[in-house]
Amino acid sequence: MVTMASQSPAPVRRIAVLTSGGDAQGMNAAVRAVVRASIRFGAEVFGIHNGYQGAVDGGDQIRQLHWNDVSGIQHRGGTVIGTARCAAFRERDGRRVAARNLASRGIDRLVVIGGDGSLSGADQLSREWPELLAELVASQEISPETATAHPRLQIAGLVGSIDNDMVGTDMTIGADSALHRIVEAIDAISSTAASHQRTFVIEVMGRRCGYLALAAAIAGGCDFALIPEAPPGDGWQDEMCDSLRRARSLGRRDSIVLVAEGARDASGTPITADQVRAELEARLGEQARVTILGHVQRGGIPSAFDRSMATMMGYDAASALLSARPEDGAQLIGVHRNRVRRTPLMRSVSDNRAIAAHLDAGDSAQALKGRGESYAQLFALLRRLSHPRPTTDAVRRRIAIVHDGGLAPGMNAAVRAAVRLGRDRGHDMLGIEGGFAGLYAGRVRDLSLADVDGWTSLGGAELGTRRNRIDDDQMYAVARAIEDHHIDGLILVGGIAGYQTIHRLAAERTRFPSLAIPIVCVPATIDNNLPGTELSIGSDTALNTIVESIDRIKQSAMAANRCFVIETMGRHCGYLALMSAMSTGAEQVYFPEEGITLTQLATDVERMRARFTTGRSLFLVVRAEGADEYYTTDAISRVFEAEGGPLFDVREVVLGHVQQGGNPSPFDRVLATRLAAGAVDILSSALSDGGSDAVMIGLERGALTTHPISDLPALIDPATHRPRDQWWVGLTSVARDLAEPPTATTGSTQIS
Ligand code: ADP
Repeated sequence: MVTMASQSPAPVRRIAVLTSGGDAQGMNAAVRAVVRASIRFGAEVFGIHNGYQGAVDGGDQIRQLHWNDVSGIQHRGGTVIGTARCAAFRERDGRRVAARNLASRGIDRLVVIGGDGSLSGADQLSREWPELLAELVASQEISPETATAHPRLQIAGLVGSIDNDMVGTDMTIGADSALHRIVEAIDAISSTAASHQRTFVIEVMGRRCGYLALAAAIAGGCDFALIPEAPPGDGWQDEMCDSLRRARSLGRRDSIVLVAEGARDASGTPITADQVRAELEARLGEQARVTILGHVQRGGIPSAFDRSMATMMGYDAASALLSARPEDGAQLIGVHRNRVRRTPLMRSVSDNRAIAAHLDAGDSAQALKGRGESYAQLFALLRRLSHPRPTTDAVRRRIAIVHDGGLAPGMNAAVRAAVRLGRDRGHDMLGIEGGFAGLYAGRVRDLSLADVDGWTSLGGAELGTRRNRIDDDQMYAVARAIEDHHIDGLILVGGIAGYQTIHRLAAERTRFPSLAIPIVCVPATIDNNLPGTELSIGSDTALNTIVESIDRIKQSAMAANRCFVIETMGRHCGYLALMSAMSTGAEQVYFPEEGITLTQLATDVERMRARFTTGRSLFLVVRAEGADEYYTTDAISRVFEAEGGPLFDVREVVLGHVQQGGNPSPFDRVLATRLAAGAVDILSSALSDGGSDAVMIGLERGALTTHPISDLPALIDPATHRPRDQWWVGLTSVARDLAEPPTATTGSTQIS
């Protein structure tokens, strides 16, 4: 919790931040957040350049950083303060020099962004600190007063690693961006593979952790993945080839196997991409090609998620260090189920090492267990997709899939997964074209695996979607169509309009008995405004599109003094606006949950004047389309233009439908697959037990959950149709605290 205070009475506290080990996209967003949050909380902050090497070298490698030193760095890959590996710091003598360089500058709090090696190094330094300082006093390298003033070195660790290989955080900084690069490569390869009916083996990073291979296989619609935590047993080559053959026989044109660089078999022997290629060629009798993605995975721009997550973590690291009590040990700042979470740093490091030990000892079950529940779920999902199980459902049923609402990238991925998994269960899978209107117009067709081949990566909605409001006559027609097409179960993949239609259908069951079938609503809308889920399919893609568009807009603005007012979609929900503002460092964000006032606009005009007269050339405002009925994007742009006079000009950018387009992001593809798998499971059990519930499925706190559709009115606000409870609203203060420096009037923010 933070409160405002006009002045900070405490003596100046000094924090340093460094990045160490391999670089990862998103590290810059973390550095920016640490620097700005520290300043905001009234501390002084120093950047240590080139990791621990800079700490050992001292001099100008340790430099104070000011607010504007970290402007405009969120979109940059790598790390602006440099990273290195440092042999000297592994030795006690090296750490002693580092301790001197820190203590003599009054620095006794350190944020380390790196892998588990870097974090262990920080912990080591912190444990040795009192002793090292005593030695430095004895050798007169620091004064006794300095040692007394800084009795402890407090540590906060953030995991920067593209492998997502750390216990204590659901995601590491850089993993999502790496997944973007991998999935872009898979999409490119699969289009050429499909044209020539070829087989490809792709090696991705991950020496100890198969996350990238697992998630990329699901997001890329690949048939098989080999990961370190699940060494395949004897005969895996046959199993792999069977899986590929089966997919081909069902209409698939390309075959892709993903190999994590640390993959090994049950005897501990490494499995290389080349070996997989040779096995495939020998058994399938066709050429296979190998692509090793290598450093491409570290490159490119950081994804929206890496920026926002790293921002949340960096903010919390500064807050943790400045409120640390003497008894607090080193903390790992991670994310767990969409929330920032602090855990004892060395517990995470040692849990991580235990996984490595299990892997070395060949105990893959323990290694997999150590990775945690969501990892195990991901693994189970890929197994289901690549190892179809024999049909167990006694009766073959007909399950139809329909869209309703605006377009959301990932809708096709959900349909493909539902068709694939539903058919594995022995059901007939039907596609309804053009929403509910298509249903009563009879546009219902069988969907085979060949029909949905390649849909995982496809933007848009192949079945067609539209917003329908069903009147009484149409209700009758829908009931009739369900009967005529012998539909036993229904999956809606859509937005709030679709949810409302299902709510009405469920309420009409006594009038129309054919509507008494089990139904699952799968959340798909870029607006992220659906109840019963923290994230909906499509919103991550839209966020990435918005963030990339804003990057370009910022680049275009280098010459003039300019305020951009950028309008995002979202209807009555500010999710896209707030998260994109946080990820791009916008100076202001207006969104419906807060609204817009004239006083606020006047304050913002003053902020713009102050900014443009002190040499800055850009002021970025993100406005959600539904932020306010009267203060429209156009209206506020005109107000700013009128007030800007000769000092600055204003440009209005309405991003529009570009936000609904594009191929789905890796996250949206995985989310769509998880939710569709959940929907098929729910319907399959209901159909075998005779159940007929209509439910909304979602992802809440990292787990799949359901709510009855009858709860819909209770969960949404009737005027705005957005959920009453929105987890992300609490991030507003993070975005605001990092957007503008404290001034004499606003003062610093105090942590309580
Ligand atoms: P990562 O942090 O990505 O795991 P490394 O293991 O290479 O990368 O560690 C990066 C740097 O952190 C090393 O070069 C070294 O300076 C420091 N470091 C790593 N392990 C230790 C350790 N056990 N004690 C002290 N310093 C360490």
